[in-house]
Amino acid sequence: MTPNVADILIEALPYIRYFSGMTLVVKYGGNAMVDEQLKEDFARDITLMKFIGLHPVVVHGGGPQINKVLERMGISPRFVRGMRFTDQETMDVVEMVLGGKVNKSIVAQINRQGGKSVGLTGKDGGLLQAEKLQIMHQPDENKPPEILDPGLVGRVTSVNTELISSLSAQGFIPVIAPVGVGAAGETFNINADLVASRVAGSLKSGRLIYLTDVDGLMDARGNLVTSVDAPTVTQMIREGTISGGMIPKLEYALDALENGVEKVQIINGTKRHALLLELFTDQGIGTQVTAQAGTEK
Ligand code: ADP
Ligand code: MG
Repeated sequence: MTPNVADILIEALPYIRYFSGMTLVVKYGGNAMVDEQLKEDFARDITLMKFIGLHPVVVHGGGPQINKVLERMGISPRFVRGMRFTDQETMDVVEMVLGGKVNKSIVAQINRQGGKSVGLTGKDGGLLQAEKLQIMHQPDENKPPEILDPGLVGRVTSVNTELISSLSAQGFIPVIAPVGVGAAGETFNINADLVASRVAGSLKSGRLIYLTDVDGLMDARGNLVTSVDAPTVTQMIREGTISGGMIPKLEYALDALENGVEKVQIINGTKRHALLLELFTDQGIGTQVTAQAGTEK
């Protein structure tokens, strides 16, 4: 049965009222920007959010797009616990692809939909200050953790929230590429999930939404986990049920909650209009990440 269009709009009203004026950080994963239709839908959803009074801030990835260029150059991508190993040559490609092609294509798409979007990398206005990231890896809790070196991979030390807030307040939609700048002006590749988490935490945003290429977190049997807390995440990483890119996503989701973000969700960005359905309808989708069981709102 197709619901009446008016009913759908009425159903959205309480949500629109609730979200009005709220800052929301949306992490747009590289795997969720594969086809033109999805990219256009995303741009439309973000533009619509802005026009009805929300303040979306987009942080994007671009893993598959980076891999394509690296492959053309004969470089095989390497990953350390879900993080891209980044030597100088890879860093150059990451900066060109993320800050150039991917960032500008998202900006152009939003502007085509009538939104006013501004693309930034972490270098613009000192948006993302960074330092080298050390990755702690402890597969066995009875052994001391190993420290893994992912190369020119950074962690965010500070976010210029004033730049983002003033753009948002002026009606712009900031679109951020996850490239950071070190104290000596060096360039760092930063995992986009981490950037989204830190931007959301610094802005004390009401929502952090990760748009990825799966329905959410899956358990060992492949079933969707609708809500997950910190102890369960630790356990699932240890067992190997959570691997690859899902590791940083969940760890940084938990950090965001600790830094004052109200609610973090992981949803499937390869499903058309996933954002709108999640925000403005009664159907909850994907996985909600909570600090402790029972604390979800
Ligand atoms: P994104 O572009 O969204 O950051 P990633 O590839 O980095 O995408 O992370 C999402 C991927 O994590 C999924 O496509 C899946 O292959 C992988 N993954 C690993 N463990 C899980 C899990 N338990 N549940 C869901 N996805 C998982
Ligand atoms: Mg990822």
